[in-house]
Amino acid sequence: MVSRVIPVDPFDLIIFGGTGDLAQRKILPALYRRFCAGQWHEDAKIIAAARSGHSAEDFRRMVAESLHRHASARDSQALIRFLQRVDYVPLDAMSTAGWELLGEKLSPNRVRAFYFSVGPSLFGSLAKRVRAYNLATEDTRIVVEKPFGHDLDSARELNATLAAHFDENQIYRIDHYLGKETVQNLMAVRFGNMLFEPLWNSQYVDHIQITVAETVGIAGREEYYERAGAMRDMMQNHLMQLLCLIAMEPPAKFDPDAVRDEKLKVIRALDPVEPHHIVRGQFAAGPDGPGYRECVGNPRSTTESYVALKAHISNWRWAGTPFYLRTGKRLVARSSVINVMFKDAPHSIFGEEAGRHANALSIRLQPNEGITLKVTIKEPGQGGMRLIDVPLDMSFAEALGPENQDPPDAYERLVMDVIRGNQTLFMRGDEVEAAWAWTDPIIAGWLARGDVPKPYDSGSTGPGDAELLMKRDGRHWQGIKP
Ligand code: NAP
Repeated sequence: MVSRVIPVDPFDLIIFGGTGDLAQRKILPALYRRFCAGQWHEDAKIIAAARSGHSAEDFRRMVAESLHRHASARDSQALIRFLQRVDYVPLDAMSTAGWELLGEKLSPNRVRAFYFSVGPSLFGSLAKRVRAYNLATEDTRIVVEKPFGHDLDSARELNATLAAHFDENQIYRIDHYLGKETVQNLMAVRFGNMLFEPLWNSQYVDHIQITVAETVGIAGREEYYERAGAMRDMMQNHLMQLLCLIAMEPPAKFDPDAVRDEKLKVIRALDPVEPHHIVRGQFAAGPDGPGYRECVGNPRSTTESYVALKAHISNWRWAGTPFYLRTGKRLVARSSVINVMFKDAPHSIFGEEAGRHANALSIRLQPNEGITLKVTIKEPGQGGMRLIDVPLDMSFAEALGPENQDPPDAYERLVMDVIRGNQTLFMRGDEVEAAWAWTDPIIAGWLARGDVPKPYDSGSTGPGDAELLMKRDGRHWQGIKP
């Protein structure tokens, strides 16, 4: 089964911060892969801009090196043709330097996408200058990266700054999680199958677990991470998005506002989280490296590298069904998975000795993407009716064939959606603000109580208190498996 490639219209993509890590490691490799797949027109142009005074030739060499490293690009005809579409302008977001030259390089009458791959403190200045130098056309989009704000106030300020120059339908806020093939698949599984939707509510679902576990630490991001922590870095955005997709009502259609309206309703229906329903952790030193505090050079750091919490959604569908969310660094395995744990059958016709059995649906987002449904069957053999649980297991790679073993990177999908003008997989301003409005009191509570995260062993499943969070409710976390 080979995926279809639908070509996009010719475009000019301007990457502010084109020499930076994100541009070199993610955005340009994604554009290159889409170019090789034949998704974009040979007329399209990529213009990178940053303060460094590279010549276009120097910059192309830098890009060739990055593509070699991050997209396995060799000296092929495709690479040469791709590099011919790449240009560079030395430009300062904070001054007049370079802006007129950028204007001269843009083509009329085509999609213009300005990718702000720079720190958020430059967003306002860039937006203002794109307007002031008349670079914005009818068909202009701007793309901004995570983190979108540090709290509700800063997110509001960023939204207001962007709104002063662009309409909401021109603003693409990236949460790269939404570009992952398997995350999009959540919507297909839920709304493309008759099987699940009738059971998808508090009457049949006991609880839902969302786990995003990482084995990596915070190398290279120490300064940012120490200010952010797991709550801001992962929970407020990636896990929140997963929660929305798993809990939202079916949108009337798969269109940007219909989908985002439903996600927003979920966030707004979240109850405040009780302090005793949250566990924070910080990884300690282990065989694979120093502890968190040593990594950030702050022996008294109270930033969490792990957080687990119990959330409730106060609406008709989910009243009484807890959602347990956890994420952390330096855990036992890299695994993003959603477990929908169904209730026991209301009555067992097989008697006490058959034991208690409940179905569970696991949706693995990464790695080994797929779905497992735990079903109850008769244990083989004579002498009575004993029941066992067995997995109905499907790996997407096996089901879809070898050509789909390596799904497109999230950025490939998202950058092409920007060019197409499809905002479905991007966060709307009100969504981001609602997520911060739920997150802020949690963080404020930690500060007010002088909360200190619990240490946990690197390579473990997190602090023991996270197990207790479940145990108190008579439940347990599903294992974190690679
Ligand atoms: P970075 O490596 O520090 O790159 C920053 C870029 O901005 C460089 O190209 C820099 O080039 C340019 N720049 C800085 N000041 C400028 C100015 N006044 N005018 C024009 N250009 C300027 O940062 P990054 O890791 O690529 O991250 C970029 C953004 O994406 C950040 O907001 C980050 O939080 C976000 N993000 C990054 C990642 C990631 O994996 N890296 C992931 C998610 C989100 P010059 O110094 O030459 O000007």
